[in-house]
Amino acid sequence: MNTFEPIIGLEIHVELGTKSKMFCGCPADHFGKEPNTVTCPVCLGLPGSLPVPNKKAVEWTILLGLALNCNINEESKFDRKHYFYPDLPKGYQISQYDQPLCIDGKLTLDSGNQHIKRDQDSRNLKKTITIRRVHLEEDTGKLKHAVIENKDVTLVDFNRSGVPLIEIVTEPDFHSVDEVDVFVKKVQQIVRYLGISGADMEKGSMRIEPSISIEIQNELRSQPKMYKSRKELPTLPTYRVELKNINSFRFVRRALEYEIKRQTEMLQKGVQPLQQTRGWVEAKGVTVAQREKEEAHDYRYFSEPDIPPMRFAQAQISKLKAHIGELPDEKKVRFMKEYDLSDYDATILTETREKGEYYENCVKCQVSSIKYTSIASKIIANWIINKKVDIQRVSSSQLLDQIVQSTQTGTVSDEELEKVIRLVLLENPKVVNDYKKGKEQAIMYLVGQTLRQTKGKGDAQAISAIIKRLIV
Ligand code: ZN
Ligand code: MN
Repeated sequence: MNTFEPIIGLEIHVELGTKSKMFCGCPADHFGKEPNTVTCPVCLGLPGSLPVPNKKAVEWTILLGLALNCNINEESKFDRKHYFYPDLPKGYQISQYDQPLCIDGKLTLDSGNQHIKRDQDSRNLKKTITIRRVHLEEDTGKLKHAVIENKDVTLVDFNRSGVPLIEIVTEPDFHSVDEVDVFVKKVQQIVRYLGISGADMEKGSMRIEPSISIEIQNELRSQPKMYKSRKELPTLPTYRVELKNINSFRFVRRALEYEIKRQTEMLQKGVQPLQQTRGWVEAKGVTVAQREKEEAHDYRYFSEPDIPPMRFAQAQISKLKAHIGELPDEKKVRFMKEYDLSDYDATILTETREKGEYYENCVKCQVSSIKYTSIASKIIANWIINKKVDIQRVSSSQLLDQIVQSTQTGTVSDEELEKVIRLVLLENPKVVNDYKKGKEQAIMYLVGQTLRQTKGKGDAQAISAIIKRLIV
C-alpha cells in the first residue's frame, strides 16, 4: 500500500535590527513610519548612487551562521539578482549567490519534544535539520493597495527598501508540520538570544516561506532511516509548491496542513500537483495559486561591481564566536544540571535570555542571604513558572521575600500559634492591659513577641487576629 509523506523545506527571512540600512545611512527601523520618509538616493535606487555595506549587518549574519553551526566562507561577495517589480527600484536586489557568508549548518530538534512524532521508536535519536545556507541581502519596498478617487491604485512605500535582510535556507528535511513548528520557533529564539532582530512574524521582521511536496512511498522506499539525509534518497517528487503570505506561526501550520491535504487528495486520484507559488488566504483558510513556476527563475545573477569582495581571517571569525554567548539549548542543559531542574522547568526558564538571567539572579540572591536559606533553587523555579512572575517588575529579592512569607504561613498551624500567643500574653500582662485601655499600638509589640517565639513563622495579620480574640 502507498503512503504519502510530506517533504518540506524552508526559506526564512529575518530583518536585522541594525541602526542603519544595508547600504546607506538611513535608519533601518521603518516600522510605523510615514511612507517614504526614511529614504535616500541609495535606497531609492537613483542613478549614480553607490552602496556601502553595513559592517554590523555582515557581522551579525556571521554570528547567526555560527549559532546555526554553519561554516563561514572566508571569501564572500554580493551579487545582483535581477527581476522587475515596482517595490524594487533598481531592477535588481543586492543579494548573495554563489559565495554566501555561511553554508552547511545544522540545527537539532530535541527528541524530548513531544511534538516530534517521527522516530518515536528510537527515543534517543535526535532529528537534525540541515541548513544549506545563510546569506545577507537587502529588503524591498512595500506595496499598498488603496482606493483613491474611486480608483483602485497601488502605492509604493520605500521605507523598508534596503533594510538588512538575512535569508536562511534549509534542505527539504522536514516530514511533518510539527517539525517545522519546532524549528521555526527555535530559529526565532536563537535570533532573539543573539539580539540581532525582534524576529516578529506579525511585524514582518521574520517571514517564513515553506516549500512542500508529497512523496508517494511504497514498500521499497519505506526505510528512510537508512539514509543519512534526504539528498541521498533516490528521487524526490518532481514538483514543489512554494507558500507565501504567511505572517504568524499559527498560519505556517494551517497553510502546511491545508497543502498536505490538497496535494495528497490529488495524488490519490492520480493527479500530479503543479509546480506553483501559492498564497495563504487567511480569511478563507485556503491557499490559492499565485503563479505557475517556470523551471527556475532566470535572475541573471552577476557579482555586484560596486562592492569589493569580502575576506575574513580566522581570527575575526573566532572573535565573533566569542560573542555568541550561551544559546538556549546549552543554557537549558546547564540549568538542569546546576539547579537540579526538570527538562520542562529548564525549557521554560530559558525561553528568553532575560528569563534565564532573572532566574539566575534570584538564585544568586538566595545564596547570598541567610534570610533565604530555606528556599531551594527548585522552589524559585516553580514560583517563576507557576505564578507567572512579572520579571520586569518584581525584583529578585522581592520574589524571595514573597516565597519566604508564603512558606512561613503554611508551616505553623493555628493551634500551635495560639499556644505560643497564650504564653506571650501571660508574660506581658502590662502590655495586654495597655491594649485593653485602648492603646492600639500595643498589639504590634505582642505580634512581634509571638513572631520571635515562632522564629518568624506565621502571618502577622493572622497572629494579630488571634491576639484580639484571646484578649477580649
Ligand atoms: Zn537610504
Ligand atoms: Mn531572499
